[in-house]
Amino acid sequence: MFFDPKLRKQNRSASLSMALLRVAQAIKSINQDESGAFGLSPVQIQALQFIHHTRDDMVTVKTFAASIGASHVTAVKILNGLVQKGLIYKITSSVDRRITHLRLTNEGFALIVKLNQWGNRLQDVVQSLEESSYEKLEAGLGALVKIMQQQGYLVVAEPCLGCVHFKPNIVQGEYPHYCDLIEKYLTHEASLKECPEHTYLR
Ligand code: SF4
Repeated sequence: MFFDPKLRKQNRSASLSMALLRVAQAIKSINQDESGAFGLSPVQIQALQFIHHTRDDMVTVKTFAASIGASHVTAVKILNGLVQKGLIYKITSSVDRRITHLRLTNEGFALIVKLNQWGNRLQDVVQSLEESSYEKLEAGLGALVKIMQQQGYLVVAEPCLGCVHFKPNIVQGEYPHYCDLIEKYLTHEASLKECPEHTYLR
């Protein structure tokens, strides 16, 4: 019987894509349930977590839009909902008025503490996997994330370590590290926060 590897690959990728879509829908439904308990949508919770975990100077409307793969207008709508709920506020950059920084209010911080429980349901599902499936899943998902990043579908924020722009410990004192992308010295604490501009060393 004639065996066409190209056709086989096409069939496998089609059924894998379908499985991924089903998983994405199931995760969306789990997230919606959990977010509803906080009176928020999943993407609003994503926004709060993005603001909390990302370095202050990188927390802008533009970087948030990129992190969720949405347009600027959509990101603004999501963020305005959080402003109306009193969970975040916006600050116009004093350096460039086109840049809007985002910050959590005290109420937003209080909610972040409660959100520690958010995502547990999905974690429970993952925990029920057989030990032998973990490595395969990690490797497969890692490869998929990398391709989606390369093709511009996904932004993964990471701390400075391992970034091509990071120059660690080049001076002594409170700001020992340097980023040659933003041309700024950084405290050690700031270098540990997530940055959406992280560019992996090759
Ligand atoms: S060194 Fe990399 S990760 Fe750190 S602030 Fe600069 S661009 Fe972001």
